Amino acid sequence: MSQIKILIAEDDSIIALDLKSTLEKLGYKVSGVLSSGEEVLEKLQSIETDLILIDIKLKGEMDGIKTVYFVKQAFDIPIVYITTYEDKLSLKRAQLTKPSGYLLRTFKEDELNGVIEIALSNHKNEKKLKENEHALQNYKDIVNYSPVGIFQSDINGNFITVNPTLIRMLNYNTVDEFFNIDIPNKLYLNPREREEEIWSFLKKGEDRNIEIKWRKKDGTPIWIQLNVKTIKDKAGKILYYLGFVTDIDKKKKTEDELKKQEESYKTLIDSSKDAIYVLQNEKLVLVNPAWERLFGYSLAEVSEPSFKLINIISPEHHVLYTARMNKRKKEEFIPSTYELCGLTKSGDKIELEVSVSDIQWKGKPALQGIYRNITERKNSEKALKDSEERFRQLAENIRDIFFVTDLDNTKVFYISPVVEEVFGHKPKEFYDNPHKWFDVIHPEDKQPVMYLTEQITKTGIYDYEHRIIKPDGNIRWIRLRAFPIKDKDNNIYRVASVAEDITDRKYWEEEITKLSKAVSQSPVIIMITDVNGNLEYVNPKFTQVTGYKFEEVIGKNPRFLRGGYRSEEEYKKLWDIVLSGKEWQGEFLNKKKNGDLYWVSSSISPIIDDQGKATHFIAIAEDITDRKFNEGQLILAKESAEKSDRLKSEFLAQMSHEIRTPLNNILTYTSLLQEELEDKLPDGLESTFYVIRSSAQRLIRTIDLILNLSKVQTGNFETNFEKVDLDKDILVDIVLEFYSRVKEKGLEINYENLDVNEPIFGDHYSIGQIFVNLVDNAIKYTNSGNIKIKLYQNGIDKICVDVTDTGIGISENFLPSIFEPFTQEYYSSTRDYEGTGLGLALVQKYAELNNASIEIKSVKDKGTTFTVGFKKYQ
Ligand code: ADP
Repeated sequence: MSQIKILIAEDDSIIALDLKSTLEKLGYKVSGVLSSGEEVLEKLQSIETDLILIDIKLKGEMDGIKTVYFVKQAFDIPIVYITTYEDKLSLKRAQLTKPSGYLLRTFKEDELNGVIEIALSNHKNEKKLKENEHALQNYKDIVNYSPVGIFQSDINGNFITVNPTLIRMLNYNTVDEFFNIDIPNKLYLNPREREEEIWSFLKKGEDRNIEIKWRKKDGTPIWIQLNVKTIKDKAGKILYYLGFVTDIDKKKKTEDELKKQEESYKTLIDSSKDAIYVLQNEKLVLVNPAWERLFGYSLAEVSEPSFKLINIISPEHHVLYTARMNKRKKEEFIPSTYELCGLTKSGDKIELEVSVSDIQWKGKPALQGIYRNITERKNSEKALKDSEERFRQLAENIRDIFFVTDLDNTKVFYISPVVEEVFGHKPKEFYDNPHKWFDVIHPEDKQPVMYLTEQITKTGIYDYEHRIIKPDGNIRWIRLRAFPIKDKDNNIYRVASVAEDITDRKYWEEEITKLSKAVSQSPVIIMITDVNGNLEYVNPKFTQVTGYKFEEVIGKNPRFLRGGYRSEEEYKKLWDIVLSGKEWQGEFLNKKKNGDLYWVSSSISPIIDDQGKATHFIAIAEDITDRKFNEGQLILAKESAEKSDRLKSEFLAQMSHEIRTPLNNILTYTSLLQEELEDKLPDGLESTFYVIRSSAQRLIRTIDLILNLSKVQTGNFETNFEKVDLDKDILVDIVLEFYSRVKEKGLEINYENLDVNEPIFGDHYSIGQIFVNLVDNAIKYTNSGNIKIKLYQNGIDKICVDVTDTGIGISENFLPSIFEPFTQEYYSSTRDYEGTGLGLALVQKYAELNNASIEIKSVKDKGTTFTVGFKKYQ
């Protein structure tokens, strides 16, 4: 054991020293020697001490007793006062501080030891006693304040102690009142139960824990939890019983309530028309009768381990279903209601609306679902949608505008979109403004429409044709029909209308009127027969020409008109043609009523119906009696003209030969003469040969022109069609050929090929002649400036050549006759310009031969452009 530490508080230093040495001798440790109360209080904070020896009469402000008083307030240290016999008064005071011992100043060594030991042990006992007292109080508190009723009963079952909680629990006023009651009958609701369920066990020494009904003081039952322990001695003899009573009345009542609720919930589920199920761990743990009826499986069947949930899902929903299940496992969001296609045991598909919610089933999370069979609803929805769709398709695919309004036309319920096409206004405009109907009506038609539509409110029926004006000013004819829509009481509450664009029909009506007028007023004879050839109609001209009246001929075969010019066979041929659906054209010699003959040029054709069948025949005949006479004359004239033309061409050909041969001789011999005489000619005659040659050449050229023209005119011109490269084969050569002539005249010539590098198909000679003539003219009719030749593509299929000059131009009134042979703008008596007027006539013929076009643009005194357009070779 560690050394006991003692503090000495003594102002008499000799006694203090004596004490110290004696204590140390006795084996104690002196933790300090102090001489005043203040010092003690101060030092005690820092030094450890097990006992204080203190002089009762310490000097200073505080004597020993006062010092101890303060020490005791803060520390639990045993105190031994050092005193004398004389200090009686002080001793009384000292006692109040409950010291642990006294020591006379005149102590002996063993006395000191005894006092200290006793003081220490007293202090220890006091401390224990205090602790025990404390513990006891704790127990009492626990028992008194426990929320559980506690009692002790003897071996006969009589209460020995009860805590206030139990008294309060049973509504008794005092403990005594409770002690006196007849326990089996007054406390227990069912005395027999006490005997059988509790006492019989307790008697045998067993513990008991049971829920049972007691009674309160006023007799009202209360559910309690009774837990009784049998307390025995070491030998096993029962000493007493210790009981704990818990008020479980509320809990019991809630449980009862819950049970009731559960029962009514079950009845609800069982009687529900909707199929309800509970799913736990992917197994159906509950299905209600409606569910069983819906799917045809019983709860027993679905509880079988072999039953798979997927069995009740229609195959096309399997993927969706599995995906949903996986989502659920991963605790991802799933809507609480969705639609599903289920499968019954017998294999029928059923459309279901499912709503699921999380619940607790037997203490574990589960899923409760409700299936509602919406197959019928779905079917009728589909049927409705289909019929709506059909209506819409019908309404939106016909060109007639269908619309529904209320009776006063203040609201449009539906209008088919085609309204935009016919009226030029969007459907929205009619929805927004039901009066739009009237706004678009042609001003002249507004009044009657207004009047008639007012009648709709009475009859609901309307049928009228009026005009509308479209936003672009276009006028259309509309036939508007309205029909009443009646409610079940037969009252009109809406109007359905159909607006039909009848502009075309109106047009045809007018056309027909016009045509029938044209027929009746026609200057030609018109006859219509039925398929058997009997007359159904003849126009007034018929009467006028033949002298037969309408009534006289109707129903008759027009055979009576025959004048005997055509044979029976020819008439048969005619009918074969007409009956085969074709038109016959020809002339008849007919007989009038008065027997006179007349000629008609006639066309007979069938009138064919939609099926391609002839319904009527129509004959249109023109009285050509006069023309017939004139024609005879004309044919004669023509024949003699043709003959003279041929003669002329032959003559010209002959002529050309006759002129050309001697001229060629002249030219040849002139050349010979020139070679011989060139150096020997007298002055002034040098130009003789030049004049002779150019005059002879001009003569040849003229003859060539005449001859060529006559060849072309008589159809004797021979062509040789081949690929011709306008650039290389023709134009380059032309420029070279005319170059010196151009220069002589002080002009410029200029040729450009813009982008042509493909050939045309034509006759090389005649094409060459076209440009020879055009360029020759350009030079001839230009006094200053230049000649331009341009080759270029025009569009995708044409190649053109422009020959442009800056010459005298051609006047507008001469242009139309420019291509006629022997025409010239200046039949110059002055002969400013030499020429025959044949060049362009030939150019035109050559162009025709080569399938080419010619255009002229000319401005007087500015210049002329001839454009020759060839088709590309393909
Ligand atoms: P000619 O032999 O008189 O030139 P053409 O048939 O070639 O006969 O031409 C007929 C007429 O057209 C000419 O007389 C002339 O008046 C006119 N003509 C032709 N080409 C041109 C041109 N490039 N500029 C002005 N006038 C022209």
